Amino acid sequence: MAPTPALAAPRPGAPLERTTIDRRDLRPDDVLIDIAYAGICHSDLHQASEEWGEAIFPMVPGHEIAGTVASVGSEVTAHRVGDRVGVGCMVDSCGECEACRAGTEQFCARGNVQTYNGVGFDGENTYGGYSGQVVVRDAFVCRIPDGVGLDEAAPLLCAGITTYSPLNQWGAGPGKRVAVVGLGGLGHMAVKIAAAMGAEVTVLSQSLKKQEDGLRLGAAAYRATSDPDTFTALRGSFDLIINTVSAELPVDSYLSLLATGGAMVNVGAPPVPLSYNAFSLIAGNRSLAGSMIGGIRETQEMLDFCAEHGIGAEIETIGADQVNEAYERVRNSDVRYRFVIDTATL
Ligand code: NAP
Ligand code: ZN
Repeated sequence: MAPTPALAAPRPGAPLERTTIDRRDLRPDDVLIDIAYAGICHSDLHQASEEWGEAIFPMVPGHEIAGTVASVGSEVTAHRVGDRVGVGCMVDSCGECEACRAGTEQFCARGNVQTYNGVGFDGENTYGGYSGQVVVRDAFVCRIPDGVGLDEAAPLLCAGITTYSPLNQWGAGPGKRVAVVGLGGLGHMAVKIAAAMGAEVTVLSQSLKKQEDGLRLGAAAYRATSDPDTFTALRGSFDLIINTVSAELPVDSYLSLLATGGAMVNVGAPPVPLSYNAFSLIAGNRSLAGSMIGGIRETQEMLDFCAEHGIGAEIETIGADQVNEAYERVRNSDVRYRFVIDTATL
């Protein structure tokens, strides 16, 4: 066991505080990573406040990890000391079930092992990326291509893949009109990636405060959802809506924006139920769908796509002492567009 500094929530909703945790000794297929940056995802807030149900405390959040390989187990061939690597929301899965064989480890029949707030197959609790080092099975470590900085790459490991995957699944590309609801961590990645795929992107944000940014990130249009005219003006005009909102939303109003056969994909994971009128779907053969992160193969594909298109996250780098303040700002939708912890400050 090797000690490493970390930030942990001691109990639900409590401020994060400095602590020290132990990382396991390397197994033959393990990779030890010196973490350089860890992104703050809204899921970290949901879980640290126990908004999604019972969670494990103390909790070291963080599933947007970027760093370099410090050492490898005896059987590791895919990663070498010094490699630039990333780890997302999962650190293990059975590897044998249909989902794992299909490269969708997030749906592992045995349950994937979450990077934090999870329990490994060895029975040990998992602790995430707000820490100095992490030990991860080699198959769950991705390569970060040259040309993408480790700081701007960290958020790709969750925000990037969570938006790339549904855009991919639902055919975002030339000729497709895509709306992104919520311009936060996930939303800004959805805008960049959908634009790079060739889709025509509209941002639907609560206000016009971030309009300039939205257009710079690749959106062709930007509308405020606080303005009721938005919903009449845009009625029936999107093939795909990616909803990244972390809170309750009037789903029917958004479904009315879909063209015939269009789909709204929910990636936002609010702690409260969403409701809709069946006629909002029936009228227009519309779909309401969900999407959960993405598999490891697709995550690597996303990282390579981002490097090829010069895409990284727009980040605000913070030190360990600013984390609680950053949580407050994420809670207030005051983030442009992802906080990344410089783990050297731990
Ligand atoms: P975030 O950075 O806080 O962004 C969420 C955005 O939603 C905000 O910036 C805001 O955008 C909008 N918003 C917030 N509250 C709202 C409200 N009451 N009404 C309308 N809009 C509101 O969060 P994130 O890190 O992108 O995560 C977003 C959600 O996705 C979270 O629930 C998270 O848990 C979930 N998530 C899901 C997956 C998955 O696998 N499906 C993976 C990662 C995260 P505007 O200011 O532009 O309106
Ligand atoms: Zn996340």
